[in-house]
Amino acid sequence: MILVTGGAGYIGSHTNKALNKSGYDTVVLDNLVNGYEEFVKWGEFVNNSIGSSDIREIFEQYDIDAVMHFAGFTSVAESIQQPQMYLKNNYKNTLNLLQLMREFDVDKLIFSSTAAVYGNPTKVPITENQDLKPINPYGHSKFITEKALEREAEKGDFNYVSLRYFNAAGCDFDCEIGELHNPETHLIPLILDAASGIRDNISIYGDDYDTPDGTCIRDYIHVNDLADAHIKAYEYLKEGNDSDVFNLGNGQGYSVKEVIDTSKKVTGKDFSVNIGNRREGDPEILVADSSKIKDKLGWKPKHDLETIIDSAWNWHKKINGI
Ligand code: UDP
Repeated sequence: MILVTGGAGYIGSHTNKALNKSGYDTVVLDNLVNGYEEFVKWGEFVNNSIGSSDIREIFEQYDIDAVMHFAGFTSVAESIQQPQMYLKNNYKNTLNLLQLMREFDVDKLIFSSTAAVYGNPTKVPITENQDLKPINPYGHSKFITEKALEREAEKGDFNYVSLRYFNAAGCDFDCEIGELHNPETHLIPLILDAASGIRDNISIYGDDYDTPDGTCIRDYIHVNDLADAHIKAYEYLKEGNDSDVFNLGNGQGYSVKEVIDTSKKVTGKDFSVNIGNRREGDPEILVADSSKIKDKLGWKPKHDLETIIDSAWNWHKKINGI
């Protein structure tokens, strides 16, 4: 049995589906603060927080072989407003989980980390051995949690894989689950709101960055490619391999303007675009070098930006009845 914390959320639910489709049994733990119970269509479901002492019961009840740990807050903007909340939820609550794992001899963890641990990279594409200098509390909370895992692994009888996601995007091709945030802050869902007329326009957060068109560059990776990497990471640990850290991205950077243009093409819709101020905490450019996970785990992203947007558009049309 695999314990999937945050399995009712965006990336967690897609991975939970992929695990079950691959024949693995799961129990999802989610407090539904950012998750949706209707996204847990596979496996068992427990409604609780990873910080609660009651989750001991899950370890007593199920024979847990590994934990996939998605639970956490993920908004850079919110983390700037509420840094303590991010440290408590993302870092301190993970320590609670680790303690229970130790107690019940669960020795494998796959951790949802982020490109935000790098801050403003010194070199692009980014390799895993670059300095970690997060520039916002969200990135910092993930950085110190990675350090806690490193120390835990040094003690022995515990191994982890930390996956540093770049920009997760796109949705389940069957449209059974998808991306739903409240409030929505991510670029592609907001663009699609503009494309369908739910919003009047999309605002670009700054066009005075030192990039070819002045807008920030990101590396968008399909959520199913992320799910696939989690399964490979689990199998890697199951084979007895040591702890490791991997970037997860397509390796290709797209500017905000390029994402907007591609969305117009994929949806066939035109909509207005504003230039707004920069958003605090946004690095100029984040693009992954994912060759390490390709070499060591045989993982390869399968979906390009058009497919990502197309799958997100199908989900968007479904949930909005378009
Ligand atoms: N962005 C934007 N307008 C929006 C939302 C996002 O220009 O309404 C930009 C944001 O500044 C960043 C990129 O789009 O450069 C991706 O932002 P998102 O919030 O999707 O992900 P992040 O990179 O913050 O994880």
